[in-house]
Amino acid sequence: MYDVRSLDSNEFIDNAEILESLEEGRKLASDRTEVERILNKARECRGLTHREAAVLLFVDDEETLKSMYALAREIKEHIYGRRIVMFAPLYLSNYCINSCSYCPYHAKNKHICRKKLTQEEIKREVIALQDMGHKRLALEAGEDPLHNPIEYILESIDTVYHIQHKNGAIRRVNVNIAATTIQNYRKLHDAGIGNTTTGSGNLSTMLSSTLFGYYLKDNQGRATQFKVPTFEPIRKTASGRAKTQLRLPHRSHGQSHAGWNR
Ligand code: SF4
Repeated sequence: MYDVRSLDSNEFIDNAEILESLEEGRKLASDRTEVERILNKARECRGLTHREAAVLLFVDDEETLKSMYALAREIKEHIYGRRIVMFAPLYLSNYCINSCSYCPYHAKNKHICRKKLTQEEIKREVIALQDMGHKRLALEAGEDPLHNPIEYILESIDTVYHIQHKNGAIRRVNVNIAATTIQNYRKLHDAGIGNTTTGSGNLSTMLSSTLFGYYLKDNQGRATQFKVPTFEPIRKTASGRAKTQLRLPHRSHGQSHAGWNR
């Protein structure tokens, strides 16, 4: 049963609600008055409901799309100004007890070295990132209560925040680690993290076979003949040239991560 106020992820992330929202969005997207109402509301910079966002997802009229892009720029500049905030990921440890098939750190991979950075090594990595101009970090670690307990993450956050180098200190540390307890989230909060993408629960029961049946849109919002790619062609295409990072629902991380750089 969908309940936006519930603290149970199975209630505030409800598959039936997602599907109904998409269905409703598909129908309302051709209703110009409704789309105009939603865009006017967006202009106030106080946010949209997921149902309203779903309507905008299905807009394919060229003129409306152009005004949506212009409005998106207006809102972005109003809220963030002319800047793009970047976070450098710093992997603290690739020990992991999970087996996400898309991730090279999965527990069954016996071909990689397992490494957990010491606090001294973290300092060296952070200074190297600061020398590259980074001010914000996303600390990453696999799920492994033995090697990566919350105490290790907290100690690492403290280490990072206390490094003074050239232009000063790291301004913001975010963490992407295994889902944990409310008490531990409080400790992370008190340690001064910016945010965490950890969590748990299902985002959708949509099968990947359904997802990969959808067509991609280009940057003008027009449907292309290309379908949503599976990970293998992305990995091959990016090989040697780019880092591919995916954020996917996961049974333990909620918003989990996978990255490779070849
Ligand atoms: S995505 Fe995260 S939880 Fe899954 S195997 Fe990789 S490091 Fe472990």
